[in-house]
Amino acid sequence: MKRLIFATNNKHKVEEVRAALDGLVEVVTLAEAGLHGEIPETADTLQGNALQKAQWVWERTHTDCFADDTGLEVDALDGAPGVYSARYAGEHCSFDDNIDKLLQALDGETNRRADFRTVICLIEGGEAKYFEGRVDGQILTERHSNGEGFGYDPVFMPDRFAVSFAEMPLDVKNSISHRGLAVKRLAEYLKA
Ligand code: IMP
Repeated sequence: MKRLIFATNNKHKVEEVRAALDGLVEVVTLAEAGLHGEIPETADTLQGNALQKAQWVWERTHTDCFADDTGLEVDALDGAPGVYSARYAGEHCSFDDNIDKLLQALDGETNRRADFRTVICLIEGGEAKYFEGRVDGQILTERHSNGEGFGYDPVFMPDRFAVSFAEMPLDVKNSISHRGLAVKRLAEYLKA
């Protein structure tokens, strides 16, 4: 089976992607490929960061590979935090710090429209291809969560649902999420 290195060591991402690409390709993590060290993410677009991460792997292995980058884009904040979603409240901040900053930035704001967007960059034979997934929704005025919830999940409610991402079973979230849709498009391409 064809092997693809996924430029991540995030267990949850790997699990989700392996399930979506099951039987199509063997997905290998950075650690499994013997790659260590911090991958730079210094571009100012999701596409640029996904390319940068995939290129980092390609340059070291010359093996087909892919990387993803995700951002939360809030309309009333002109698309922020966007590509800076992970470190919105500063370097080494927690998910809670980011949510607190977001709720504060939107305090009193009635336009709460937002989307999550994921861009996957696949490098095949040295050539880059992109796959995108997007989910629209709104930012809640407070956290809605049964437990922990990843990232901004407790405050994001996707359209056509009455619960936040954090309140959904993971398989339901994955079936409609930005990353789920981007991975599905990658799978369709690999199948064709
Ligand atoms: P990454 O590019 O996948 O690492 O995502 C960047 C940041 O976006 C993460 O650190 C999270 O804060 C946020 N994020 C990405 N995906 C999700 C999601 O599915 N739910 C909530 N937040 C997310």
